Amino acid sequence: MDLLLCDARMWGAEKPVDLRVVDGRLVEIATHADADASRSVAPARASEHRDSDFPDHADRGSAPGAVGHGARAASTYRTIDLAGALVLPGLVDAHCHLDKTLWGGPWVPNTAGNALRDKIAYVQRRRAEFGVPDAERITALLTAMLAAGTTRVRTHTDICPELGLDGFTALATAVDRLEGRITVQQVAFPQFGMLTNPGTVELMDRALRTGAAQVVGGIDPAGVDRDPVRHLDTVFGLALEHDVPIDVHLHDRGTLGAWQFESIIERTLATGMNGRVTIGHGYALGDVDAARRADLIAGSAEAGISLATCAAHDDPVAPLREMHVAGANLALGNDGIRDLWSPYGDGDMMHRAHRLAERAQCYADEDIELALRAATFGGATALGLTDYGLAPGLRADLVAVEADTAAEAVIARASRTLVLCDGEVVAA
Ligand SMILES: [Zn+2]
Repeated sequence: MDLLLCDARMWGAEKPVDLRVVDGRLVEIATHADADASRSVAPARASEHRDSDFPDHADRGSAPGAVGHGARAASTYRTIDLAGALVLPGLVDAHCHLDKTLWGGPWVPNTAGNALRDKIAYVQRRRAEFGVPDAERITALLTAMLAAGTTRVRTHTDICPELGLDGFTALATAVDRLEGRITVQQVAFPQFGMLTNPGTVELMDRALRTGAAQVVGGIDPAGVDRDPVRHLDTVFGLALEHDVPIDVHLHDRGTLGAWQFESIIERTLATGMNGRVTIGHGYALGDVDAARRADLIAGSAEAGISLATCAAHDDPVAPLREMHVAGANLALGNDGIRDLWSPYGDGDMMHRAHRLAERAQCYADEDIELALRAATFGGATALGLTDYGLAPGLRADLVAVEADTAAEAVIARASRTLVLCDGEVVAA
C-alpha cells in the first residue's frame, strides 16, 4: 500500500516534511502543513487511514525531482503521523558474518583462544556441532537487524572445500523467507585460507559465476595466506573476470599491514577498480606514524577504496575525522554477531555507531554524526548502492528515531519508532 508519512524531520534539515511513498519509492518530500507549530518528539503514531485522495501538496514546495501525484490520486494509501520524529535513511551494515551466527539458539559457552588462528581453528572444529550455517538462525538475526533499522547488508560468507556453498544457500534461504525485504550482498570469503586451502579458489570462482556471491573476498594476503602477491593477483583476477567488487579482510598489523594496504591501493589504480574495492578492518592504519597514515588515507581517497571498520574488541578504530577531511570513505559493520568467533554483538547499527564514536573519542556533535554517516551513506558507498538516500526517486528505506538530532540518536542509541524497507513498514 502507498504511504504518506507526516511530520518527519529529515537528518540535516530544519523544517518538518511529509513524505510520500509509492510502489516502494520515495516520490515526494513536501513541507509539512503544520511546519510552524512547535512540538516535542513523540513516538510514531502508526495509525492507519484510508482515503481516496492524497492531500494536495502542489502548493507547498515539493523537492526537486518530485513525481507528480495526479496519476495516483485515486489510489488507497495509509497515513502515518511521525509526530516530529527524526528520519534517517535505512542503516547499512557493510561488514558482518551472518552465516556464522548462533542468534536465537541456546547459549553456547565460548572456549576459543584469543589469537586469530585460534579462532579460525575453533570455528572449523565446532561449527558442525551447532549446525552452522543455519538458515533459521540467520533469518532470526536478519529479522532483528531489520527491526533495528538496517535495510542493506554486506555479509562475508565462509567458503572452503568442507563447506562448499552451504553458507550461500543458507543465506539465500533466509533472505527468501523475508521475501527479499532486506538487501543482502554476499562476499565469497576465504576465512580458512585461500591459496593455503586447496580447492577454495575454484569454489570462489563457482560462487561468483553462479551469482551465489556478488563480491570477491580475501583475507590477510600475507599473515594468513603467506603469499601476498599471488593472493592479490588471484582476488583481482576473479574480480575482473566476473566484473564484481572486492572486499578484503586485512587484520595484519604494523608495517606488514600497511604494505598490503599500499599494495591494494596500487592494484586498484592499476586495474581500474576505482570505487569498487573495500578493505575490512585495516588495523595497520592505527599502527603506523601520522605521515604514513595520511598517505594511506590519501591513496584510499584517490582509488575510491572504502574502509569498513567494526570498532570491535580492542582493535584500532578508523580515524573518522581524518578520513572525512581527506575524502576517504568509511563504512561500518557489526562483524561477527553472537557466534563461535565472538559472543558479542546484537546486529544493531545504532549501537555499533555509538561504539565507534566512543572508541574514536568523538565528542563534538559533528564528529559523532560521522559515525552515523559511516553506518548509513558510507556503507551505501562501500556497497555501491545507487538507489540509496532520502530523496525523491530513491528506494524508500528509512528509519524514524526518537531523538532531536543525529548525534543524540547515536549517543542515546535512540529507539526506532518506524522502519520502512523498500516502501513497506517492517517495524513500528
Ligand atoms: Zn570480518
